Amino acid sequence: MKKEDITNIKQLLSSPKKIVIVPHKNPDGDAIGSTLALYHYLKKGNHNAKVITPNDYPTFLKWIPGNDSISIYDYQTKSCNIDIESADIIFTLDFNAFHRTGNMEKPLSESKALKIMIDHHQAPDNYATYMYSDVGMSSTCEMVYNFIDMLGDTDLIDADIATCIYVGIMTDTGSFRFRSTTNKTHEITAKLIEKGADNSQIHNNIYDTNSYERLQLLGCALSNLKVISESRTAYISLSQEELNRFNYKKGDTEGVVNYALSLDNIVLAAIFIEDKQEGIIKISLRSKGNFSVNEMSRAHFNGGGHTNAAGGRSDLSLTETIEKFIDILPSYNDALNNE
Ligand code: 5GP
Ligand code: MN
Repeated sequence: MKKEDITNIKQLLSSPKKIVIVPHKNPDGDAIGSTLALYHYLKKGNHNAKVITPNDYPTFLKWIPGNDSISIYDYQTKSCNIDIESADIIFTLDFNAFHRTGNMEKPLSESKALKIMIDHHQAPDNYATYMYSDVGMSSTCEMVYNFIDMLGDTDLIDADIATCIYVGIMTDTGSFRFRSTTNKTHEITAKLIEKGADNSQIHNNIYDTNSYERLQLLGCALSNLKVISESRTAYISLSQEELNRFNYKKGDTEGVVNYALSLDNIVLAAIFIEDKQEGIIKISLRSKGNFSVNEMSRAHFNGGGHTNAAGGRSDLSLTETIEKFIDILPSYNDALNNE
């Protein structure tokens, strides 16, 4: 971020403002962690701040400090619209285009509020007055730490803010194992622990709260795993019937695609999840090395994301979507086999 932008934002935040903070639809740990961290920080500056998520999110994120203050647009549309309309400033976190906010796309694009983007996804849209966009960052949470640092306020980081930031760094780096994890990420993480983030407890709250049915669903997903060796690719599918059989709840399939990627010699992994209610197949793509699933998703599956993690969707049936995936793979064989 330019020095001049920081000076302007500092000036802007020097008196109390009405502020709305928004993450992407289907918010994950980084989305909830970063928005709540910023919420706590802005509250300390006496701002009237509010986090509005486009839709609901998994139970394993509902313990994060400040969770009870979150409004969910899909459930409280009227009051959220009033908050958005009357906001002086809207922070958009962990996404790069308004269409990533589902039903909030319209009120956000119509809003006259000043917009500040903090995000690490590729190819951001140009709607924000102030843009802190860096695709090299592990997580939006790491960027929120830097943002507070740039404003000269790390002293204000308390245990709650540290906990929120820790959640997003941990979840978006796959517990510090992805390539996006840098020495700087670890330095920040160390400071968060110093400030009171209980690393072991946070990990436990996010990852060790499985239901029996979730593990059964994982078993089903793993038995559906298929390998296409010539493309160094593995994929998993889950039909709506299978999800129903194991009483699927939001978040139950989070991370399942990583099992496919963990196979020896596999550099591309996919999961196809049928969503009969929305009438789509939700796709998650993961890769190793330089193979860009962001590009693959943009080209074929109406999505995007990062080089090694991207999402997308298909309006075809589950079987047809998988057929389409298998059909396009040979055109990537050279790239996949050169990894
Ligand atoms: P996931 O597969 O976990 O849903 O998403 C992987 C990554 O890609 C996340 O960083 C997510 O924000 C991003 N992503 C998921 N779906 C989309 C999409 O439709 N468009 C874009 N641009 N990014 C997406
Ligand atoms: Mn993120």
